[in-house]
Amino acid sequence: MPIANYETYCKMIDRAKERHFAYPAINVSSLTTANAVLRGLAESKSDGIIQVSTGGGAFASGSLVKDMALGAISIAEHVHRVAGRYPIFVALHTDHCQAKALDTYVIPLIQETERRRAAGLPNLFNSHMFDGSDLPLKENLDIAADLLDRCHRNELILEIEAGVVGGEEDGVKGEISEKLYTTPEDTLAVAQRLGTGKKARYLLAATFGNVHGVYKPGHVKLRPSVLRECQDAVEREYGKEARFDLVFHGGSGSTVEEIREAVDYGVVKMNIDTDTQYAFTRAIADHMFRNYSGVLKVDGEVGNKKNYDPRSYMTTAEAALAERVKQAVQELRGAGTSLY
Ligand SMILES: [Zn+2]
Repeated sequence: MPIANYETYCKMIDRAKERHFAYPAINVSSLTTANAVLRGLAESKSDGIIQVSTGGGAFASGSLVKDMALGAISIAEHVHRVAGRYPIFVALHTDHCQAKALDTYVIPLIQETERRRAAGLPNLFNSHMFDGSDLPLKENLDIAADLLDRCHRNELILEIEAGVVGGEEDGVKGEISEKLYTTPEDTLAVAQRLGTGKKARYLLAATFGNVHGVYKPGHVKLRPSVLRECQDAVEREYGKEARFDLVFHGGSGSTVEEIREAVDYGVVKMNIDTDTQYAFTRAIADHMFRNYSGVLKVDGEVGNKKNYDPRSYMTTAEAALAERVKQAVQELRGAGTSLY
């Protein structure tokens, strides 16, 4: 199917919320990783989300160019071209963008969508994340309110974050503290400022002890019940329809029970990066260890071209990443749920 349009994307989210499942949102940084996600989703008969981080975009543009917006456009255009070959819907999203990077990442990408819309073409991305969690909440929401207006005019969904995700992603280090737990007061402030999604739709990354990257068990306590408290608070104030569309960040290493509890409280999108990175690299490491004398020219030998052709191990890595996507879909109860 082609990339989901705004209407389909909204339907995807509503369906997940109604049926208590969630979409994996997988970070990609190359054609191969994007293709792997499409394969994993298609083999699961699940729709899903492909996302590009600022670092992923910079990487995709080439190490000499390092233009995060350009690389993200390039990946998105690739996915637009090939998505039609897979019998599922996929949405394109951009991951964490802090206020200081808006002018070099999210804004040029919205401009690109505006250009495309003016020419009668579909949007480039379906949604963008603004991460103002390092700012005071009022400042975070001031910026979010402006962005939400502009996104809404262009049928884009905005993802925002209240509370802080700990750990490290793309070199941005989050602290580990009480701020890792969003409070009902924070989320009420979000609803008050941005509305309850009826007018302009947004996704909320509320935090409940999430940490980016992988830590050994017990490092931080995940408390999915924080999400329930936030949803109850907004429902009391604004009614059932106002319950948030939540995003789960920093979920690597979570148990299936924790993941499903979060989904039961209204998580519709779960970001996955660390676990798929590992699955991809694990397959390459395996290839290198098994074919040591083929990938290297040892002791004057010539190696084995079949082994060091990057396509050989990248194909294996693509399949391994696709398998990890399938596991994520299962954990999120998404198998067989495609709208297609
Ligand atoms: Zn995140």
